[in-house]
Amino acid sequence: MRNNKNLRKWLDDMQLSHPLLIAGPCSAETEQQVLDIANQLKDSNASVFRAGIWKPRTRPGYFEGVGSLALQWMKKVKLETGMLTTTEVANPNHVDLALKNEIDILWVGARTTVNPFIIQEIAEALRGTEKIVLIKNPINPDLSLWLGAIERFYSSNIKNIGAIHRGFSTYEKTKYRNNPEWQITIDLQRKLPDLPLILDPSHMAGRRDLIFDLCQTGLDLNYDGFMIESHNDPDNAWSDSKQQITPDSLKQLTQNLKVRRATNDDDFYLETLNGLRAQIDVHDNKLINTLGNRMKVAEKIGLLKKKNNVAIFQSKRWNEILANMLLEGEEKKLSEEFILKFFKAIHQESINHQENIIKKD
Ligand code: PEP
Ligand code: MN
Repeated sequence: MRNNKNLRKWLDDMQLSHPLLIAGPCSAETEQQVLDIANQLKDSNASVFRAGIWKPRTRPGYFEGVGSLALQWMKKVKLETGMLTTTEVANPNHVDLALKNEIDILWVGARTTVNPFIIQEIAEALRGTEKIVLIKNPINPDLSLWLGAIERFYSSNIKNIGAIHRGFSTYEKTKYRNNPEWQITIDLQRKLPDLPLILDPSHMAGRRDLIFDLCQTGLDLNYDGFMIESHNDPDNAWSDSKQQITPDSLKQLTQNLKVRRATNDDDFYLETLNGLRAQIDVHDNKLINTLGNRMKVAEKIGLLKKKNNVAIFQSKRWNEILANMLLEGEEKKLSEEFILKFFKAIHQESINHQENIIKKD
């Protein structure tokens, strides 16, 4: 696990355990429900209690949160359990109410991060705050939009910023409610290595049975903490019932997770690793050469099609390639998801090369 200096400072300042665990229901429903869950979480690793008070819903007509009434319940959680509290803020009025009612950590939801106007308003409302502000990824897989939101908060002199990865909406359906697209947060970690990164496996999975594996992947990819939806009666939750887990399941889950070391300076380990990495470099170079050669052939095809006035995209041929490669891939234990992504990217690059040839006069 990476030793993120900003997260370490937060945890030390607030005497919280590492990795940071935020847990609690999707929505605050009743005072009893909030306090029951918080008390059941008291002896878990969770040090921050979450509950949505104002709920953004994709479609109207669903439960939209109990509103500011629940702020009093959150105060009671703090008094009764000693946990810190966090809720989603989606406009300056929410910010004002949350700050007045001593919410400790604020988070910005995925539907808000997509909108620079609202992000700017929220950042202004929070200007100069010492509080921790966690920014969820935007709904669409767009790293620059996420980075833009983070930058707006930094520019408002808010120093304690973290990111929450809750997955992305994609055209192609996957087993996840919101596809992880791990590559995006690998890029985010490269660009902002000191930004604490928290995984929300609940909204990513959309279902209970995928949460553990997502958390383990998060730890293996150096995430600093988790936000996990937990409810005392998940099946009857007023929102996101399929993805919430009981406080007992949460305790079990965190016990089974393997926190790995950031690195190891043992000589044998380092030598073996370097040897294997050298092999990977050889394969990567071969791949690049092969891809370069493949594109040269695509250009010849482009020229031929141009001379014969034939359209670039040939769906029958493309279906054949895909079907063959899926079969070959299966033999080599390459996942269908990977083969589809890889060959679609190659095919698109081929089309681009052919187009360049056809457009040239
Ligand atoms: C939530 O955390 O309950 C929520 C609405 O999440 P998201 O913004 O990720 O959809
Ligand atoms: Mn939810």
